[in-house]
This record gives sequence, C-alpha cells and structure tokens, in this order.
Amino acid sequence: MESKYAINSLFPEELKNWMIQIGESAFRAKQLFHFFHKEQLSEIEKATVFPKQFIEKIRKEKMDKIVLWKRVDSKKDNTKKYLFKLQDNHYIESVYLDNQGSHSTLCLSTQVGCRMGCHFCASTKQAFIRGLTSAEILLQVYEIERDLNCKVNNIVLMGIGEPFDNYEAVVRFLKLFHHPDGHHMSYRNMTVSTCGLVDEILKFSLEDIPLNLTISLHSAFDKDRRLIMPIAKKYSIFQILNACDVYFQRTGRRISFEYTLIHDVNDTMRDINQLVKLFKNKSMHINLIPLNEIDEYNKQSPNTDYIKNFQQELIRQGINATIRKSQGADIQGACGQLRGKETKGEDIIEINRNN
Ligand code: SAH
Repeated sequence: MESKYAINSLFPEELKNWMIQIGESAFRAKQLFHFFHKEQLSEIEKATVFPKQFIEKIRKEKMDKIVLWKRVDSKKDNTKKYLFKLQDNHYIESVYLDNQGSHSTLCLSTQVGCRMGCHFCASTKQAFIRGLTSAEILLQVYEIERDLNCKVNNIVLMGIGEPFDNYEAVVRFLKLFHHPDGHHMSYRNMTVSTCGLVDEILKFSLEDIPLNLTISLHSAFDKDRRLIMPIAKKYSIFQILNACDVYFQRTGRRISFEYTLIHDVNDTMRDINQLVKLFKNKSMHINLIPLNEIDEYNKQSPNTDYIKNFQQELIRQGINATIRKSQGADIQGACGQLRGKETKGEDIIEINRNN
C-alpha cells in the first residue's frame, strides 16, 4: 500500500479506500479497524474472522508493534511503570496511575527522547531519536489494559516527549482513540501537556478536539524561564497567554498551567506576585508540582509546608492553585523522571503477555 502510515494508524475511511484499491470488500475495513482498536489485537495471523488469502495480503503491510518489556510496581501506591521496546529497538516508558481504585490514568509517551531540553526533566537527557507513530501511542494503552485486564478512564500525554513536536501523529492518535468504533474515549478524559509551542497551540485550536490542554510554565518571568526552558527563547509568556486566549475562544475549554516548584529558582514571593499579575481575574488554574529529583539536575523541591504556603498565598491573592499529588517517585515514574532506558541485569522482570 502507498501510505506513509502503518495500517493500525489508519482511520476506517482510509482502510476502506485501500480495500477498494486491492479489490477487497469495503466491509473488511470495518472489521480490520474493529480488530485493531476494539479488540485491541495485533496478531493478524490469529484472526479467525478473515480468510487466509486476505491475511496473507495484510501480513505484507507495515504494522506497528510494541513489546511490553518490563513492569515495575511502586510499593507505596498502586503506580506501575512500563518499559516498552519498539520495533527499531528503542525504548519508551508509560505510567499507570491508580486514583484510589475507582479512576485510573495512563501517562503516555509521544517521542523517543525529547528535544526541548528543559533542565530539570530526565526525558530530555537522552538523545532525541524520533516521534512515535499514532499506533505506537495507542498500543501503550492497549498493552497496559491487556496486562491489567482493565479499561483506563483517563490519559495524559505527559510521558517522554513534547506532544506538539510530534503534532501530526499526536492529533491522529487523539482522533483514533476517540473514534466510536475504537476505544471511544471522550476528549474530556484526555489531557495534552505542552511546554508552550505557540504555533501548534493555535493550529490545535482549529482541530475540533476539545480536550484539556495544560501548559508547562514553571516561571512567570521570561528571563527566568529562559534559564530553565530553552523553548522560552522562541516564545514569550505573552505569546503563550495570547495563544491560550485564542484556544479558549475557539474551543470553550479552559487551559491550566503546570508550575514545577524548584527551590531558589522559582519559589519566592517575587514569583507569586508575578503569577498574580499574569493570572488575576483570568480564571486560570495553576497546578503546582514539587520538583522530582533527577541525577542531572542539582536542585531540590521546597519542603511540603513551604509548598502549601506558596499555594495558600496564591489562593489568598485570588489565583486558583492546587498541588499535584506526586505518585511513582520511588520507581522513577513521577513527572519528569521517565527516560526510556532499559535496566540491565537482574532487575529485569519480564512480563508474560496473556494473548
Ligand atoms: N513535554 C510536555 C510533557 C512533559 S511532562 C511538557 O513540557 O509539558 C509533564 C510535566 O512534568 C511538565 O509540566 C514538565 O515540565 C514537568 N516536569 C518535568 N520534569 C520534572 C521534574 N523533574 N519534576 C517535576 N515536574 C517535572
């Protein structure tokens, strides 16, 4: 087939056109989509619904697969970190977060490595290799759901990579994941986190995908932001806030902001006052994240009381601020700790897949 996409990254309409081209019935497209995205299977050889000669045709096509390589479980809570091996032998990670048993969230990777270079983030310390395909993002969900025999309630694109630096594949993933004949997750249960790629935020506001968008701010001053986030050299906070206004006007969805608290970097009264200046009367929400420590960044999070005071002061000044509960830090599975590295040696616990 003449397509740059693997067959499990295609929409039913695209599969249908292809079926017609190769002289197969159009209804096979629906069956294939169902097989990949409803039954969440990928071993076409085992599909009993298709005739042998059809399977032979499909087998020749490019199909993305990922292998569940390792799972590490937190002893503190029910967080589980997954390492997946890709067909080109690179690795990515995803995290399953259990919110008191009733709600589960999956944190998914969108790239192998990251080129944004935020100083405090582990995902950016490995070389950037490539963006994931839409199917590779989808398969993280399917593999974890199969492993845990569950359906997840929410997904957040906050794993390795910058989602908007892999724009096309991410948008295709979101639409496939929302498709009524597939997993059919509501956009309200999906969150995309971006370090603030203004051009892509504006483009995204026209996609008709009303999900939760969150911006990694981390400083209310351009000058300070540039010291920890290279992307701040390209876009100013003013440009980001304008793009957020446009996004809100077009989608009706409010944007939230992530603010990782780093002691002596962005946690002073001066920072609070500037945040208040930016957000007063804007009904924006700020999510404070205590810095999760990584080897390559020699800074600490302020202590718990200090963070609570920081939050209270923002609230006192009329800003809607919450503190993100940190999960999975003991297994390097918390915000900014994913790096897609195979752990060598005895530490590897291989998981038997039950398909
Ligand atoms: N590339 C996306 C997704 C990143 S991960 C983005 O930048 O938004 C999700 C959040 O974790 C981001 O806000 C990111 O800045 C934050 N983060 C990265 N490293 C962190 C660390 N060491 N401690 C706490 N939060 C971190």
